[in-house]
Amino acid sequence: MTEETIKNDTALGERAMDKIEKQQTQRKSTKRISKAQRIKEEQARNQEILRVLEENYTEAGTELDYTNPFELLIATILAAQCTDRQVNKVTPGLFAKYPGPEEMVTLTDEELGVIIHSCGFYKTKSRNILQTCRILLAEYGGQVPDNMESLIKLPGVGRKTANVVMSNVFGKDAIAVDTHVFRVSNRLGLANAKDVLNTEKQLMENIPKNKWSEAHHWLIHHGRRVCKARKPDCPNCFLNHVCKYYNNGQMSKK
Ligand code: SF4
Repeated sequence: MTEETIKNDTALGERAMDKIEKQQTQRKSTKRISKAQRIKEEQARNQEILRVLEENYTEAGTELDYTNPFELLIATILAAQCTDRQVNKVTPGLFAKYPGPEEMVTLTDEELGVIIHSCGFYKTKSRNILQTCRILLAEYGGQVPDNMESLIKLPGVGRKTANVVMSNVFGKDAIAVDTHVFRVSNRLGLANAKDVLNTEKQLMENIPKNKWSEAHHWLIHHGRRVCKARKPDCPNCFLNHVCKYYNNGQMSKK
């Protein structure tokens, strides 16, 4: 092999390497662009979802009746596995006679159980409510604490109840993920999670903080009226143009 042939081969090899490197760089930047593009599209879609929800559910708020933090706390505990409407039938009589923790702790588990019987799980709920009242009296001067850490230590109070109380009566930005919020947000694509905690985290990322509390109500309203668990009314849903569940053809598989 002559020296010239060797030189030519080397040059050819270098050009080929250059070409490969260029192609790799191009592929990487195309990937980067498409990822950035995707994120941009997702953000625009999320904004559109929130805009449409707000437009349609401007007046949405909690459907539980209450006049103070204590009443909302108790009503929310009662609302577990029960409808707000049913809770609203029971609470006026309950709060009229037992307006605060001091009065409520005079009841026995059984007596409270009789009053709240129609809300279901009355034994557990009455035990939790009375224990919660005792803790409120012993540790918080009879007041409902306004922070997650303290609220979730109360019997019968999980993150959802704590978030409902914090956002509705203490005006704190919070997203309570109940069954409707979980279902609707994951169908829409506002979240993509298998459990409540991750759904809450993703919603906090995808929804501006000042909209958390309102968005919680919008999603609940939409879940109750349109995006029902068994039979979502997709063809007539004003969000079907941006809904992942609908546009991924989940409906046609049903
Ligand atoms: S299009 Fe269907 S799945 Fe999507 S939000 Fe509307 S009702 Fe729910």
